[in-house]
Amino acid sequence: MVGACIIIGTGFLYYYNARQIMLLAAGNQLESLSSAKKHRIESIVNKKYEELRLVQSRLFEAEHLYQYNVFGKLNENVGRSYRKLIKQKLQKLTKDIESFKTIHILNKDGIVVASTDSSAANFNFSYFEFVQKALKSNNNIYPLIDYKTDNIYLCLAGPIYYHNKLQGVILIETTTPDLVSLTGDYTGLGNTGETIIGQLISDTLACYITPTRSNTTKFQQIVLNKKNPQPVFLALTGQEKLFLDVMDNHQKKVAASCRFIADTEWGVVTKIDMEEILSPSEELKWMIIRIGVGALVILFIVSLILASRIVKPINEISAVARRVSQGDLAMQLEINSKNEVGDLAQSFNKMTKSLIAAQENLESKIKELDRSNVSLEKFAFVVSHDLKSPLNSVLGIAELLGTENMATLTKDGTYMLQLMRAKINHLKGMIGGILDFARLNQQLPTDELLDLRSVIDRIGESYASNVCINISNELPFLQINTVVAEQLLQNLFNNAIKYNKRDKIEITVGSHLCDGEVIYFVSDNGIGIAEKYFTSIFNIFQTVAPKGNDSNGIGLAIVKKIVEGYGGRIWVNSVLNEGSTFYFTLPSAQPNDSLKNNIKDFMQKT
Ligand code: ADP
Repeated sequence: MVGACIIIGTGFLYYYNARQIMLLAAGNQLESLSSAKKHRIESIVNKKYEELRLVQSRLFEAEHLYQYNVFGKLNENVGRSYRKLIKQKLQKLTKDIESFKTIHILNKDGIVVASTDSSAANFNFSYFEFVQKALKSNNNIYPLIDYKTDNIYLCLAGPIYYHNKLQGVILIETTTPDLVSLTGDYTGLGNTGETIIGQLISDTLACYITPTRSNTTKFQQIVLNKKNPQPVFLALTGQEKLFLDVMDNHQKKVAASCRFIADTEWGVVTKIDMEEILSPSEELKWMIIRIGVGALVILFIVSLILASRIVKPINEISAVARRVSQGDLAMQLEINSKNEVGDLAQSFNKMTKSLIAAQENLESKIKELDRSNVSLEKFAFVVSHDLKSPLNSVLGIAELLGTENMATLTKDGTYMLQLMRAKINHLKGMIGGILDFARLNQQLPTDELLDLRSVIDRIGESYASNVCINISNELPFLQINTVVAEQLLQNLFNNAIKYNKRDKIEITVGSHLCDGEVIYFVSDNGIGIAEKYFTSIFNIFQTVAPKGNDSNGIGLAIVKKIVEGYGGRIWVNSVLNEGSTFYFTLPSAQPNDSLKNNIKDFMQKT
């Protein structure tokens, strides 16, 4: 995808640059053509002026006109003969100079005195600007439109002097083959380019004085647009530069190079359609688009192939890996591709097979361990049970030995007998503990709805009066076996009393909610436990306090076994000489549906 974007991006950059270069090249071309044409037009105009001056310098018309002016007015016949004479001279002149179509001689009032065109006799030209200019001694050239034929002629107008006195005006209508061939030369202007020469007719109108590429014969008039000036309008306002993207009078965007001929006040425009200039770049643009689309299609096909060859198998592998992680080790991949993905699939299948083997091995080990645990616990139960009665007998005999031989026993003998009784009692306690521990694996009566407060009260009854058990808050009813609950709490309470040196022993039972879980606690004001024993005290036969009759390291192991049997956790927090707090959870001893109200109350209170 990125590759395709780079191709398209680079392509468009290239297109943009090419477009700029094309515009620059076309602009330069138009500018140089325009300048060349301006010089040619100026030289044609100069030639026309020379022709006019040449005619003016041939004095015979001037002399006749003078004579006509002086004598013709006196006698009509004389006047007519002068006019005839002038006409003959003019006719000769039109034959001498090919481009001269018609020549009129006007008197100082602008009225035709003589003309090669007999229909123009007595025509009043005085309203024409070029005549007025000529009467003010200015030679000028002006396009003259023949409305009958729609043809345009250039009219050369100039004053006629005789002995430095103005006698009238000479008007020469000339054809403009030079200008026509100049503007009709489209070399370097492609299919749409052309050169046009325009002249203002009024404030809002202009006309082309030569044929255009689209209209080779007819006179053309242009309504000037002041808001969006056409190129000819820009040229007529004297702007001599290149304009890009301007609208010409055919409503086409063109690049136009404008020039102004000051002598004749003509605007010269060399222009070409933008469309033609940019057509190669447009082709380039479409080529880039085609290449880009092609690249995208190829990329799409390649990604489809890659998807089917790599992504799809990888998705399959990850789906199977997910199933395997959820415990479904039997899942196998069916990918037969011979590439890296195929290798990965094979390794994955191998891995799941060895996982299955490892799991089976583990399960058989666990079963083996369970079996040996069960037989060990059965053995412990049987041994401790069987040891209990001979031990009781030994204790009885020791008691009897003490009471019956009290008088004869020495001080050392009495002490040893006491020591023996203490050791037997300790052994008895240990055996009792092992029995209790082993009994936990026996089938217990099913769990029942239990109010922990009643269990606590019942246990508390057997303690001395200096033991005070507080219940800090409401405890939820639990679905738990009563014997087990008693065993759990009793062991914790016994320790709280046993490892306590205070006169008044304070035990507090309570619970709180933490992250939606009920955490129970039993705290005391006893001797406390060093932090390094926080974990080990839960191991069987692990004691921290100096061993006495009552300490055998089984109590907390039983508590841990019960808590974990209900899927919970147990831990301790303690400060030496201040007290200890045992925390535990009982997740599977949660209230069932019927206890929901109870737990609701509990939640609200905690
Ligand atoms: P026993 O009490 O028979 O030694 P336990 O498994 O109940 O065995 O306790 C293990 C050890 O943990 C005890 O020897 C004692 O040192 C320490 N212990 C247990 N409970 C407390 C307590 N509440 N305060 C101080 N120490 C305690």
